[in-house]
Amino acid sequence: MIKVAKFGGSSCATAAQFQKVKDIVLADPARRYVVVSAPGKRMSGDTKVTDLLYKAYHLAEEDADFEPVMAEIRARFQEIVDDLSLSFDLDENFRIITDNFKKKVGVDYAASRGEFLNAQLMAAFLGFEFVDASRCIVFLEDKTCDYQKTEEKIREVLKAVPHAVIPGFYGADIDGNVVTFSRGGSDVTGSLIAAAEHVDLYENWTDVSGFLVADPHIVPNPKVIDYITYQELRELSYMGAGVLHEDAIFPVRKEGIPIQIKNTNRPEDHGTLIVHNTLKKPRYIITGVSGKKDFCAINIEKAMMNAEIGFGRRVLSVLEDNNISFEHLPSGIDTMTLVIHQQELEEHEQEVLNGIQRAVEPDLIELESDIALIAVVGRGMRSSRGVAGRVFSALAHEYINIKMIDQGSSEYNIIIGVRNEDFEKAIRAIYDMFVLSVDEES
Ligand code: ASP
Repeated sequence: MIKVAKFGGSSCATAAQFQKVKDIVLADPARRYVVVSAPGKRMSGDTKVTDLLYKAYHLAEEDADFEPVMAEIRARFQEIVDDLSLSFDLDENFRIITDNFKKKVGVDYAASRGEFLNAQLMAAFLGFEFVDASRCIVFLEDKTCDYQKTEEKIREVLKAVPHAVIPGFYGADIDGNVVTFSRGGSDVTGSLIAAAEHVDLYENWTDVSGFLVADPHIVPNPKVIDYITYQELRELSYMGAGVLHEDAIFPVRKEGIPIQIKNTNRPEDHGTLIVHNTLKKPRYIITGVSGKKDFCAINIEKAMMNAEIGFGRRVLSVLEDNNISFEHLPSGIDTMTLVIHQQELEEHEQEVLNGIQRAVEPDLIELESDIALIAVVGRGMRSSRGVAGRVFSALAHEYINIKMIDQGSSEYNIIIGVRNEDFEKAIRAIYDMFVLSVDEES
């Protein structure tokens, strides 16, 4: 069995956190490849090393004095080196980095140095080999990842390396220039290595014990989701935000490798296992409830719309011409509604309305703003009767008006539109109905 274990910024921000990582890695010989982020926040209000690097580089670009910020960054690493009594030449490393900042070699290079140094410290501490990501994560000229080449390179580079620490977040293009993923991209590095090596499990170690059934800012102490399928996670896409980078899913999903979200500070917790498919019965009928505010709806009415060939296409091509994507598309016999991100529409409002007017000559176009969308998702919903009924009665009980309903035929999800101001109350009502009341009964 082989596992890739990726540790996020807060998991390796101090010597004490390094020790936890070591205990975790050495507890399971399957954990052969370790990917690390740059040191993150040590406590709330702290600054991530990556943010300090961006700050220093912007000063360097403006020919301003960046040395004090660089000294702050160095102190972060010095503390880890000293506390763990590692023999590592920070002087030489910081001399090279500072020179390169002066030469303005690029913001991606600058941002990547946190991972570059942290991985070397972790490798020394674990007794694993350090493998630089610029040897195996390959970027194209347009700064997107070359998945095919990356896979080949990872296999080639790790072939004779049984245990390695690899820095996350960056790689290099064909000329050797460092290129980074978007923020939080160490998750993607871990996923690419897991996929290329066909490992059995991709562990993503962070500072929470997994995905939660609902947003903890809205619901107090929500339950952790033990198992979730890739599809459910996608439906709840607004929920995982901040825990796992969206682009980390594709490489492992393609290879059928599960991802386990684990808590470095509470390794005994099960965490959340993200799988392709599972027979595991969900604890509750719903796996999760999440949502987002600030959508708007364009309601289009026209008599005999259902018989008019090409009506939908003509309406959607207006959106396409204005570079707008739609989120949902509920319809009636003579009505069609486009649910869109409000901000996207605001930028092109009149072009879109005129375009629709000309394209399909509707009887009426109505606009509605400030709508929140809520996704109630769960594989367990398929086999249960009355889920929609219970969602509606939970909302009715709270006097919340439902503006829109959309259920995919997969029966995995129900999407509900409510007013922005009812958003939090609606999430709480649904959570109470499907989770709290179930726990109280049992
Ligand atoms: N250190 C980078 C960031 O702060 C990448 C990562 O942590 O995944 O975004």
